[in-house]
Amino acid sequence: MIPRGPADPDVSPEEVERRLQARLQELFDRCRPEAPLRVDRYYRSGRGYYPPEEAGAERDLFAVSIVTVEGDRYEVGDHTVRFPLHSLSKVFAYGMALTDHGPDHVLERVGVEPSGEAFNALRFDQRNNRPFNPMVNAGALVTSSLLTGDGPAEQFARALTALRIYAGRDDLEVDLDTLRAELLTADGNRGVAYLMRNLGMLEGDVEAVLRLYLEQCSVMVDSGDLAMMAATLANGGANPATGQRALPRARVRDVLSVMHTCGMYDYAGHWAFDVGFPAKSGVSGGILAVIPGKMGIGVFSPGLDVYGNSVRGVQVCTELSERLGLHVFATEAEDELLSPVEDGS
Ligand code: GLN
Repeated sequence: MIPRGPADPDVSPEEVERRLQARLQELFDRCRPEAPLRVDRYYRSGRGYYPPEEAGAERDLFAVSIVTVEGDRYEVGDHTVRFPLHSLSKVFAYGMALTDHGPDHVLERVGVEPSGEAFNALRFDQRNNRPFNPMVNAGALVTSSLLTGDGPAEQFARALTALRIYAGRDDLEVDLDTLRAELLTADGNRGVAYLMRNLGMLEGDVEAVLRLYLEQCSVMVDSGDLAMMAATLANGGANPATGQRALPRARVRDVLSVMHTCGMYDYAGHWAFDVGFPAKSGVSGGILAVIPGKMGIGVFSPGLDVYGNSVRGVQVCTELSERLGLHVFATEAEDELLSPVEDGS
């Protein structure tokens, strides 16, 4: 159930649920055909980026899931198709590094400034000798290196346990084919990591850090998992279905702030303006978005735009924000969950 605003106290919880499912289906149907027009590329581990003309069945994959802070689920489309977390894992690694060391320690090593650059750019915050933020690859490599643990295996085991708590699923696993392919094509990340160590931004065994980062990237999820992970953040860090805490409440604010300003690559400013809730995207075409106190959204559709964000994912979130008044700075009067849905609209 989505919390009802004060605008119309006569709307029953069941009616609000019916409206949300109807709107989701309508939105899904409307966003499905539009993607090919704006798709710039696709990504697959091992193959790298490839143009839309070379895409096959992945063109049609599309799923939208919503989980409310009460744990209610709404799903449409291919919501059982799994894909690698890729950049979405950066959110959770950052949360864990903050929890392990506290924000001050982490802030010395990874900034919170949008870089305005692509996620894999070979650029750093030179003034402070650190990566710009934890949502670009350089930052995620450093946050991964900060995870507490007796060696890389234990560091990863802790990261995986946290991911499972966020998703409320004990069977989240690494896809070994994805990991192998990523390791074989990781020269960009490897280069960034070695350069950072040379500059004193990163410590330790670069190959081990790289593997730890790519293991997290290779954990498989579906859109429902993404929505549940996002709902855990929307719910102050406790999984709404299991009640298990994934992140201390005080750190949720830190993570959401950085997602809000840096989560959508170099489209993040436009996103904050237009869509207005914290989100993160990844190269497999996943987007996880958090409406604090209300719900988590997970979208999956592999076609990426020029910024590397899922085309359908951006469209779904933009429209959900507009139609449901979910922009964090919107007024209650804009909350259209409280207005009737016309059947078939
Ligand atoms: N595994 C990918 C990489 O590190 C993830 C990047 C992404 O999703 N933007 O290059």
